[in-house]
Amino acid sequence: MEYDLIICFETHVELNTKTKLFCDCLVSYDAPPNSHICPVCTGQPGALPVLNKKAVEFTVKAGMAFNCTINRLSRFARKNYFYPDLPKGYQISQYERPFCENGHLEITGDDGKKYAVGIKRIHLEEDAGKLVHSSDSLGSSQSSLVDYNRSSVPLLEIVNDHENNPIRSIAEARAYLEKLRQVLRYIEISECMLEWGQFRCDVNISVRPRRSLQLGNRAEVKNMSSYKFIMDALGYEMGRQIDILESGGRVDQETRLFDEVKGMTLPMRSKEDAPDYRYFPDPDLLEVRIDQKLIDKIQKEMPDLPDKQMEMIVKEFGITRNDAFILTKDKAVSEYFMLCAGVCEDRRRLANWIIKELFKLLNEASCTIERCMVIPDDFARLIDLISSGDITESIGRTVLGEMFKTGSSPEAIIDQKGLKPISDDKTLKEMLEDVITKNPEAVTQIKSGETKPIDFLMGQVMKKTKGKADPKKIRNLIRKILAE
Ligand SMILES: [Zn+2]
Repeated sequence: MEYDLIICFETHVELNTKTKLFCDCLVSYDAPPNSHICPVCTGQPGALPVLNKKAVEFTVKAGMAFNCTINRLSRFARKNYFYPDLPKGYQISQYERPFCENGHLEITGDDGKKYAVGIKRIHLEEDAGKLVHSSDSLGSSQSSLVDYNRSSVPLLEIVNDHENNPIRSIAEARAYLEKLRQVLRYIEISECMLEWGQFRCDVNISVRPRRSLQLGNRAEVKNMSSYKFIMDALGYEMGRQIDILESGGRVDQETRLFDEVKGMTLPMRSKEDAPDYRYFPDPDLLEVRIDQKLIDKIQKEMPDLPDKQMEMIVKEFGITRNDAFILTKDKAVSEYFMLCAGVCEDRRRLANWIIKELFKLLNEASCTIERCMVIPDDFARLIDLISSGDITESIGRTVLGEMFKTGSSPEAIIDQKGLKPISDDKTLKEMLEDVITKNPEAVTQIKSGETKPIDFLMGQVMKKTKGKADPKKIRNLIRKILAE
């Protein structure tokens, strides 16, 4: 039998506000443990939360980017459970009235068509602290310590919709997560660094016989922060659930954990053990009213989203859709390209050189474009030097390599390294005559109508000039001399 797959994510995104959600402790990722804490974020009796306005603005911004309805009246609720990293014994989250509802994010589906993945809600909550175990495996750990630096860092939860346009395949799941992260980075509300836990997912997955309308029982796999493990977990779960259905069984509704070493999901708790969070409105916090003025302000600050940016690059600069897609994948790359494009004449070559040459250097050095020493102005001038024939592509590569290492300008490097092109016709002619004298056979062949030996002679001259001559010029000179 064939099966349909239904995948829904609950994605947690740490917002990059300066301070935490309900106090003025700094949000920091590399500070010593428990160095950014206060009575509020460690849940001391009597301490009162004060809402961080910026975090609300960021949430509304996300709502707009994902086409949501923004609720003008919203409130926070207490989600009650006990865990050592949760000092108050409850997490301040949202329940009945989240800030944003009923949105979508457009991806390219497996059939190549646009598909709007449903987003049911986006709410704002506080993150928990972090447990640090004395050994990697909890079972063999002798002790555990708690770091509350992360406690109360603003956290966005973006929830997909099971009924309205869920994700339909593992490939679409990946496309969704990548696009989600891309947009969040474009609107600059989170760095979404997976390795820092700023972007992590719970995923719900169920299967049902193809064309059946009834939703199957779903398993939830908790807390994953690596694309690879998420995809592995989805692949494993799909196989497991289909096997159960094929053998006439019933999939249990349960929460599972992905064992990264074994590459399989394992049961964590069943539906019966699911905690009752006893949500109720937080009496310490007022309802939040979002007025039109704030909406207008955020709308005005909204940058172009990647899809729009891509269309613009294709239309304005005549760059292929494929190249434009690569250039807009990451906001920092897109910004770099735009800065270069502002001063560069040959935008197609520019696009090509960023994708092929600059990315190669960045990759080899494990460097990001933000930390790249080549400033956009210099990169743009290098491209124009190549396009105008002042230097060859091969010299251009050498110059770029130096620019990448030293941060110097292309002109300075060309000067220092003696890479100035040989434009003097007399010198070129002398070199060429020397090559011709040494290769009489090639000359005879050319004179009898063969063209290949021309390339050979050109190669010899290029070798002599160490690639510093304009190939077009040499070709013309060869023709001219042999015609005499
Ligand atoms: Zn604090």
